[in-house]
Amino acid sequence: MSERPFFGHVIDGKEVDSDSGERFTSVNPWTREVWADVALGGATEADLAVTAARRAFDEGPWPRMGYARRQELLERLADLMEEHADELGSADSRDMGKPLAQCRHDVARAAWNFRFFAEHAKLSTGETYPMDSGHHAYSRFEPAGVVVAIAPWNFPLMLETWKVAPALAWGNTVVLKPAEDTPASATILARLAAEADIPEGVFNVVHGYGPNSVGSALTEDPRVDRITFTGESGTGRIIGRAAMANLTPVSLEMGGKNANIVFADADLDNAVDWSIQSIFRNAGQICLSGSRLYVERAAYDTFLEKFVAKAEAMKFGDPLDPETEFGPLASQEHFEKVKGYIDTVESEGGRMATGGLGDGWFVKPTVLVDMPPTSRHVCEEIFGPVVVITAFDSEEEVVALANDSEYGLDAQLFTENLSRAHRVAERLRVGTVWVNCFFIRDLRAPFGGVGSSGIGREGGSFSREFFTEPKAVVMQI
Ligand code: NAD
Repeated sequence: MSERPFFGHVIDGKEVDSDSGERFTSVNPWTREVWADVALGGATEADLAVTAARRAFDEGPWPRMGYARRQELLERLADLMEEHADELGSADSRDMGKPLAQCRHDVARAAWNFRFFAEHAKLSTGETYPMDSGHHAYSRFEPAGVVVAIAPWNFPLMLETWKVAPALAWGNTVVLKPAEDTPASATILARLAAEADIPEGVFNVVHGYGPNSVGSALTEDPRVDRITFTGESGTGRIIGRAAMANLTPVSLEMGGKNANIVFADADLDNAVDWSIQSIFRNAGQICLSGSRLYVERAAYDTFLEKFVAKAEAMKFGDPLDPETEFGPLASQEHFEKVKGYIDTVESEGGRMATGGLGDGWFVKPTVLVDMPPTSRHVCEEIFGPVVVITAFDSEEEVVALANDSEYGLDAQLFTENLSRAHRVAERLRVGTVWVNCFFIRDLRAPFGGVGSSGIGREGGSFSREFFTEPKAVVMQI
C-alpha cells in the first residue's frame, strides 16, 4: 500500500475513487518525484458529478436559502481555508513548484474570493425601470444552475476560487475540474466545504485530463448551464465549440503576450521592481506577465543594466524554503516547451543578456534582446521566465508595437506624465492596463481579455452577469 497522500474526486459530498479504480500521480517539480496519487476520472465521473450538481440545484436548499445564509457558510469555508493555509499552500507548492510563501499568499487571496463574492452577492441590487407607459419594470438576477469550472495549473487554488466563489455566492452548484498537474488543493477545498456544512452536491470536484476525458465530457454535457474556463487559447477554442453545440454560455480567460511599456520619464527603480515581478514572479507562469518589455531609447541602457542586475539577484531553490523567490517550472512537459524557446534564441536572430537553463526543471530569469519583432519569442506566449526587451522612440510607435499581437489580456505602463498615462491606456487593446504598478486587483473591476486572450469578463457585477440569469419583470400597475 502506498504511503503517499491520495486525493479523490468529491462527488455529492463524498470523497471517492474512480469507478474504474484508475489513478494518476502528481510529480513534485523540485524533487522530480511522485508525491501524491490522484483518482483518474472519465466520462463516468463527469456524469456522476453533473448529476449530483443538477439534483442539488433542482431540489436542494442551496439556491433557495438566501444570500445571508449562503454568506455564513462561505465565510465559514474561508475561515477553514485560513486555518488550513499550510496544508493548502504546500499542496500547491508540491504540485507545481511555486515557492511556499507565494502559495500561502494565494491561499489568503482564495479565501478572500469567498468573502468578497458572498458579500457582493448579498449587497447587489437589481434595477427598476419606471416606464413612460405607466408600466413598471425591474430586473432580477437568478442563479443560472449547474456551473462547470475548468482551471489551469499556474495559480491552482486562487483561480479555482475565482470561479467557484461567485458561482456559489449567486446560488449555483458547481463541478470543478482542476488541472491534472495541480489536483491536490481542489480536493482539500472540497473536504473543507463539507466541514463548513455546504450541502452535498453543491460543490463537486473531479480529477483527470482534458481531451477525450473528464474535461471534454463535462463541457459536452447538455445539463450544464454555464462553463467557465481559464487556460490556453487553443483549449478555449475547443471548449467554446463544445459549449456552443449545447448553446451553453461560456466565459474564456486565456493566454497573453503582454506589453510592458517604460517611458524615459518613469520612476525607473519603480519600473524595474514591478517589471521584475511581472515577468519573473511564479517563474513567469502568469497569464498577465509583461513578457514583451518596451523601453524608451533614452532610458534603455540604464533600465537594462538595473533590470539584469535584479534578475540575476533572484533567489531560486527549494520552493518549501521561505527564502526562495523563484521555483522550477511546473512540469517536465512545460520545461521542455520553454527550453525550446531558450535553445532557439540565436537561430531566431536574438541574444541572451542573462539567464538560460538551470538544473532540473529550472529556467533562470532570462532576458532576451535584439529579437526580431516577427520571432516566435516576441509573438508567442512562452509562459516562462523569459522576457524580450526592445527599445522604442515614440509613443505612436510603442502603441502600435504593443497592439501588434493576437492577444490582448493586459498591459503595464510606466510614466510620470499623467496625460500620457491616460492617453496610452485608452489606446491599448487589452482588458486591463496597470499604470506604474502590476497585479494590483480590485475584485469589483472587470477582468478578462480581448482577441485570443478571452471572451467575457469576470469580477464583481461582471461575474454576476455571467453566473446568473438576468430576468426582466414588467408589470401593469
Ligand atoms: P490548458 O488549456 O492546457 O489546461 C487548462 C485546463 O483545461 C486543464 O484543467 C485541462 O485539463 C483542461 N482541458 C484541456 N483540454 C480540454 C478539453 N478539450 N476539454 C475540457 N478541458 C480541457 O492550460 P494550462 O496549461 O493548464 O494553463 C496555462 C494557460 O492558461 C496559459 O495559456 C495561460 O496564459 C492561461 N491562463 C490564463 C489566465 C487568465 O486569467 N486569462 C489565468 C491563468 C492562466
